Amino acid sequence: MTDLLCHFDAAPTLGGHALRDDPPPGEHPANRWLFLLSAEVREGHVTATPPLCHRCAPRVARARGSRKRSYTAVLVDGVRPWGVAGLLYDPTTLRPHPATDGGLSAVRYRSPRAPWVVAHQALISLHGITPVRLALRNTAA
Ligand SMILES: [Zn+2]
Repeated sequence: MTDLLCHFDAAPTLGGHALRDDPPPGEHPANRWLFLLSAEVREGHVTATPPLCHRCAPRVARARGSRKRSYTAVLVDGVRPWGVAGLLYDPTTLRPHPATDGGLSAVRYRSPRAPWVVAHQALISLHGITPVRLALRNTAA
């Protein structure tokens, strides 16, 4: 995650070459990261999902199915470290503190809770988000 390599084949991920449409003037997809996310994405979206390279994005999208809203593809200008997702412990009882959804707790770096979490995943925040459509034809060599 720290190198922002493709989570499918560990290739470099800068570039949004899987776009169906030409980017509008002023857009430079070669200098942006492409993410395929399952949630609605807004500025500052926090995720544990790494970006994808231009070769893997269509393949991953096809694997998720043609169901509408099965994924959201976005180009991102900037990625910042946000925190970690992990098992949070209560500092007074030293027992695990249950997450609200039963899963891992998201804890920001420099939070007072940060020393009390056993990290499982790095979290990043996404900035300068532009939704895009992917070309789903087979581009793999
Ligand atoms: Zn890839």
